Amino acid sequence: MKSFKIVTLGCRVNQCESESLAVALREGGWWPAPETWPASLCIINTCTVTGKASMQSRQAVRQAVRANPGACVVVTGCYAQTEAEVLARIDGVDLIVGHGEKHRVLPLVEAHLAAVGADDGSVLLPEAGSGPPKVHRSDVMHAREFRRISAAPSGRRARPSLKIQDGCDAFCTYCIVPYARGRSRSMPVDEVMASIQQLHDSGFREVVLSGIHLGCYGRDLSPPTDLASLLRRIDDEARIGRVRLSSIEPLELTEEIIELVAASGRFCPHFHVPLQSGDNGVLARMHRPYTREGFAAVVLKIADQMPRATIGADVLVGFPGESGAAFQNSLDMVRDLPICYLHVFPFSPRTGTPAAGYPDPVPVDVIKERCRRLRSLGTAKRKAFYNGALGRCVEVLVENERDSETGLLKGVSSEYLTVLLEGGDALKNDFVTVAVERVWSGRLAFGRRADASPA
Ligand code: SF4
Repeated sequence: MKSFKIVTLGCRVNQCESESLAVALREGGWWPAPETWPASLCIINTCTVTGKASMQSRQAVRQAVRANPGACVVVTGCYAQTEAEVLARIDGVDLIVGHGEKHRVLPLVEAHLAAVGADDGSVLLPEAGSGPPKVHRSDVMHAREFRRISAAPSGRRARPSLKIQDGCDAFCTYCIVPYARGRSRSMPVDEVMASIQQLHDSGFREVVLSGIHLGCYGRDLSPPTDLASLLRRIDDEARIGRVRLSSIEPLELTEEIIELVAASGRFCPHFHVPLQSGDNGVLARMHRPYTREGFAAVVLKIADQMPRATIGADVLVGFPGESGAAFQNSLDMVRDLPICYLHVFPFSPRTGTPAAGYPDPVPVDVIKERCRRLRSLGTAKRKAFYNGALGRCVEVLVENERDSETGLLKGVSSEYLTVLLEGGDALKNDFVTVAVERVWSGRLAFGRRADASPA
């Protein structure tokens, strides 16, 4: 059987692309291998956002080679784009496919299998790992076209992501992403609308709009447009029940977008806004185009328009030159603003970025301790966010899988609370109004249906 496995590292966009790869493979006659079985094709979709992510990507490739003897091993993703030479030295890798060629993974695999005489259905390569891998990689900095991996939008999960934008023009000094994915490119508006409609017609009730730099959406299109205009059109015309925005940069979260989400019944009142640092000096050295005051103004504007909105933030800890006082500025900002949860990342230098050569590195043990303090503040914030929902009714989209520990139905509310509830399978993939009765460990709510007629 032509069976495949995909191992994914990194961000939501990578996850989204892996799902699209799986759709393309299934359409091409390949079948997902059961969890514990070796596959005949193994794709590793790598990440290289930090030195650690690169190391984990190499480990994942070696592990895949070991666990799938005789398989065709394909490495793609950001690390494949930036460091193909390093990956080419790993025994057992057959193909290395950069971002510019990711949409052609299936034909490249088929051509490779035909070339080595393994396209007869058994697929296992006669001599796995023989010879150096073939590298398919172009200069992604010149890519100007938004490319889709599969024509049909992907969606294994109840709330699929739709990648509507790729690449980034910002060049923050710690980030390799613009070199790995190239300049900002957007999916044309009509294609976005058609993809959302396709997801709706396939039975999906929510879509998460994703991108590497979502706020740049539309600037490259002809004629140019912007994210607010796209969201307005989705609000006016789409039939899907719920739309969520993934991470969006603070300056691109305009008043127009905030007002639109506040007035819409379709967009989730949930914003994930990267802060990275609460210190103006550090922000300037990171080449982030806003100040702590500007970030605070955006968050307060959201809270003013939508007092129950959920606001999450990313913070990067231990950027070179981050003094104790600068870190305290981040801590104070997070504590004082209505931020509901945090993603905390320790800085680790990424070769090829300006910040990798910056003086004044923060010692690793200091970074660890700062991360611990910030994460503990994040935990307290998340607890307060969950406790704040007690006694309230929230609208939950019930997922297709029950909670593995309790056997209860599980879903996500429009505010991004994970909610467990009792009920039959008929409620799966449906919106249910739930009265929140209990909160467990600040990251799980339990409630009862508030829209069911009494028995
Ligand atoms: S905005 Fe900055 S951090 Fe985000 S992908 Fe672009 S360069 Fe990287």
